[in-house]
Amino acid sequence: MTAKKVKVRFAPSPTGDLHVGNIRTALFDWAYARHTGGTFLFRIEDTDTTRVTDEYINAAIDTLKWLGLQWDEGPEVGGPNGPYLQSQRLDIYAEWAQKFLTQGDAYHCYCSPDELEAVREAQRKANVAPGYNGHCRNLTADQIAAFKAEGREAVVRMRMPDGTTTFVDEIRGEVTFDHKFVPDFVMVRADGSPLYTLAVAIDDVLMGVTHVLRGEDLLSSTPRQIRVYQAMGIKPEDYPVFAHLPFVMGQDNAKLSKRNGEVSIAWYREQGYLPEAICNYLALLGWSPGDDRENISMKELTELFTVEKVHSSPARFDMKKLEAINGDKIRALSLEEFAQWTLPFLIKAEVISGTDSEIALVKKALPLIQERIVKLDEAPALLKFLFVANFQVDADAVSKITDGAAKDILKRSLKELQSVDTWNHESIEAVLRSSLIEELGLKPRIAFTALRIATTGSTISPPLFESMELLGKDACLERISAALAL
Ligand code: GLU
Repeated sequence: MTAKKVKVRFAPSPTGDLHVGNIRTALFDWAYARHTGGTFLFRIEDTDTTRVTDEYINAAIDTLKWLGLQWDEGPEVGGPNGPYLQSQRLDIYAEWAQKFLTQGDAYHCYCSPDELEAVREAQRKANVAPGYNGHCRNLTADQIAAFKAEGREAVVRMRMPDGTTTFVDEIRGEVTFDHKFVPDFVMVRADGSPLYTLAVAIDDVLMGVTHVLRGEDLLSSTPRQIRVYQAMGIKPEDYPVFAHLPFVMGQDNAKLSKRNGEVSIAWYREQGYLPEAICNYLALLGWSPGDDRENISMKELTELFTVEKVHSSPARFDMKKLEAINGDKIRALSLEEFAQWTLPFLIKAEVISGTDSEIALVKKALPLIQERIVKLDEAPALLKFLFVANFQVDADAVSKITDGAAKDILKRSLKELQSVDTWNHESIEAVLRSSLIEELGLKPRIAFTALRIATTGSTISPPLFESMELLGKDACLERISAALAL
């Protein structure tokens, strides 16, 4: 890689919520910038105003912040190369497009959509590579005048010379594109708006980007971008270094999409995945630290990340592995951190409203579930028994405590528990074990399932005796009595 101070950019076109592939790119961009002590630039590519909305732009900014991928130049923080929204740079692209026209690198094309479709159809029939046939490359002044008189509007196309473009991709090695398959491309639409290829190349140059690390789906756009650099008069040694990251595939080996997996980062956030878990997992998608460790902190990632260790073969998304990592990260949180992450989930699920006394009780209960959950959104169901105003046993559990055997367990428990003076999990457990297990000879699973359902309303709960302690003696006795009346 070059000796210049590294500047890496993440340049999404947010036409929806950022997805797994975008964020894996952002993470690698960020990690590479941090690893090299370089700059992480964030640019919003919103020239397609029909598809990129303010809502998605704001969501992209919010997602990056939430993940902790702080940028050094870009929206909100500013920087010496702004503005960082392409929609605010249209005059820059227009100026360059005009320069390319003047230089003869680009030309106006008057072909109508129907004519272009007819060309494509003929190419399909003749079984030749599809693409613009160069119809307007060398129009005479008269031809241009005639098109204008017809009221035709022109797009601006870049002239691709015959030959090939070769560049070294840091992950894939030397890559060559034959221009037979890279036809003259549209840079500016008839309404004057620039296309991605023009804007991305101009901005990478003007913003001083040294490294373009991005998804493999953009590999084929590289020769067009290089063509724009040439028209700008940039010397090859000053082109950014390209590195195209491998595709992320679903379990079915097709490219990860909504169809074969969940791709939206917003979805993972709603489910209660921690940002460190998402980053840790995505870091391993196509990159490895050189050993088989799976638990990586953001700090370690920045220390270890190099492009050389990025694989060229596609990576496979594995939800189970992400869940396991999330569980590990949840267990590694301090109680205070765990509470900060979990409280919004409890409030959103209306388990608590957020009063001080509720929060105090949540903090007592959290250690009971920290070892057990893999996603934060499991917390409301596990803790709601502590807070419900009108307690009811879950409909699917009622039948398990209405038979004679269960009623006997509950009756005996009620009697024994009434005499417990010091209400803590040790004494609750001691009294229940001696009466139900030792004296009645019941199997613990059977005895305690009935009690679990009666006191927490569900067959799944945090540890029973600790749950009963937190619920308090009165509430437990009340619930067991109510269960006996079912
Ligand atoms: N804006 C492009 C996209 O979201 C990516 C630009 C790039 O990384 O070169 O597809």
